Amino acid sequence: MRYDAAIIGSGPGGYAAAIRLGQHGRKVLLIEKDRIGGECLNYGCIPSKALIELANSMHYLKGMPGANPSFNLNLKEWQTWKWTMINRLTSGVETLCKSYGVEIVKGTGLILDEHHLSVSEATYEFENLIVATGSSPVKINGIDSPLYNREILDLQEVPRRLVIIGGGYIGIELGMAFAKLGSQVTVVEMLDKILTGADPDLVRPIERRLKELNVGILTSNRVRKVEKSGEYSVELENGEILKADQVLLTVGRRPNVTGFGLERLNLQMDGPFIKTDRHMRTSLPNVYAIGDVAGQPMLAHKAYYDAEVASDNICGMDSVVDYRAMPFVIYTDPEVAYTGKKSVSESSFPTAANGRSLTMNNTLGSVHIYADSKGIVTGGAVVAPHASELISEISLAVESGLMAMDIGLTIHPHPTVSEGVKEAAEMIYGKPLHF
Ligand code: FAD
Repeated sequence: MRYDAAIIGSGPGGYAAAIRLGQHGRKVLLIEKDRIGGECLNYGCIPSKALIELANSMHYLKGMPGANPSFNLNLKEWQTWKWTMINRLTSGVETLCKSYGVEIVKGTGLILDEHHLSVSEATYEFENLIVATGSSPVKINGIDSPLYNREILDLQEVPRRLVIIGGGYIGIELGMAFAKLGSQVTVVEMLDKILTGADPDLVRPIERRLKELNVGILTSNRVRKVEKSGEYSVELENGEILKADQVLLTVGRRPNVTGFGLERLNLQMDGPFIKTDRHMRTSLPNVYAIGDVAGQPMLAHKAYYDAEVASDNICGMDSVVDYRAMPFVIYTDPEVAYTGKKSVSESSFPTAANGRSLTMNNTLGSVHIYADSKGIVTGGAVVAPHASELISEISLAVESGLMAMDIGLTIHPHPTVSEGVKEAAEMIYGKPLHF
């Protein structure tokens, strides 16, 4: 049997491509060696955001004047709920794939040549191949038995002392969540600041919140070794030793490009990633690579986007990626979200002047619009509760070439944090109402 497309990996990249190709009537084979939904649905985006929701709910309820703060958390019971929720999501994805005729094979896909692969004993022939094998956490020699994202998200108890090696978005998101759940958290970061990918102005409120939560941040510090005998001892290069009940190692992720016969295709690489053109095509015209394996940013919505473009091209359309309006989100408290790029004008509206933020007892942050000399929106940033939900309006403006005035003249519902986006847009060409 010859398939129009074989897809290795069923994360946001692989399963989205399978559904799209199925919708176009193509004969699709989707191969997964672990769980449908990949890292994102099972061990990444979804469980981490569930944990963050839990931590925020408990934290804000406890901190609300008049609330009775004495309630307990049974993390074990919560984990059972979490896996039920994830199973609901992943079985929904599986059902959807099957409803579009996608054939799912469980096992490790091994590429044989540019038109054949095998899973266990069976060989499959394909017209096109999509490599969507994702990424894995970077490990460090000499740091024994730490937790990675999968294990920390599956803890059955809140650790009393948690050391996090790596101050990127995963470390800071989870560090803040565990601090709210009661852990004494220390983050060790090799560089001189945390969250290095984001504008320092946007990170400042996060540093303030981390301080309020007593999270220790040790920047310009490297971990020399980690030993475990009962408790963990984390030795820093400056000789300091941190004691911990759990240690999370999260110093980046590397694309999965080995162990499945990729080398047989002799594809051009781009550093550790598979090199693709704007059609998501590799150096072989019938082989595509999407998601984490195909380059930065390693984000689920980038994988979904790549998947659509690759599928369109397999179906004969001429589709190219354009990451100009890519949203980036850090799910801290407040959330940080940004998109596009800065230009000649930048506005800044404080969330302290927003009614809805006040009702949430959460006013740390600001909303920014970036515009060119003609007032066309080139980007923006939101540091506020639900920034992750608000950034799409700014991405849409960038994508569509809208003027700041288009946002400013749009009626936004009251009371919402989204009014902050309107007010920041108004600041580009006039005055906001509430500042
Ligand atoms: P993956 O999701 O990694 O899926 C790849 C799949 O391929 C896996 O299921 C793997 O088992 C399978 N596979 C690999 N090799 C083979 C083989 N040879 N045969 C068969 N199957 C194979 N991104 C966001 O956008 N928002 C977030 O909030 C967010 N939070 C995150 C939190 C954490 C803790 C982590 C670790 C990541 C987070 N990410 C987030 C990143 C996101 O998870 C990834 O960008 C996304 O999963 C990439 O999708 P993908 O399809 O490229 O690969």
